[in-house]
Amino acid sequence: MPLYEFECIKCRNNIDKTLKELEKKITKKSVLDLVNKYENINAIEVVDLVNNKIVAKAGKNAKEAIFMDFYLNEGNTLVLINLRNYRFSELIYVSEDEKNVKCACGEKKNIEKVISTFSFTSDLSTDMPTPDLSNLPPSVRAQTSVGEYIEEKDRPKKNR
Ligand SMILES: [Zn+2]
Repeated sequence: MPLYEFECIKCRNNIDKTLKELEKKITKKSVLDLVNKYENINAIEVVDLVNNKIVAKAGKNAKEAIFMDFYLNEGNTLVLINLRNYRFSELIYVSEDEKNVKCACGEKKNIEKVISTFSFTSDLSTDMPTPDLSNLPPSVRAQTSVGEYIEEKDRPKKNR
């Protein structure tokens, strides 16, 4: 059964545009505007890593969503976006089926087939991504800790 992965270019571009906007200006209002503007973005949190302070925060994290983290301002600013995944998989039996592939946003045309990667998991509730801190300046990295939270159901059962 061929399972293919697709990416919605429209939804992906919304993320790119959001980051471009944030590169220019980060205010409480601009962050809120972006959350309201892009339907696939549930929430945005901007953290000043140097001063360990939340600069702006808007929206509400949704269930069945993923987090993506980006670093602006030479790694000093963390942008955490809670979004509906723009990558999804579909079962394709005949090539005709590919024409009917549709993103949750309604987009049908701007859909791109992607090469399947084994490392990719669609259910990130059990496999939370941890931000890559290796690009951060050492002074910032020292102050940044990424906690690993394991959900109850995923914790190893105790041996009896
Ligand atoms: Zn979409």
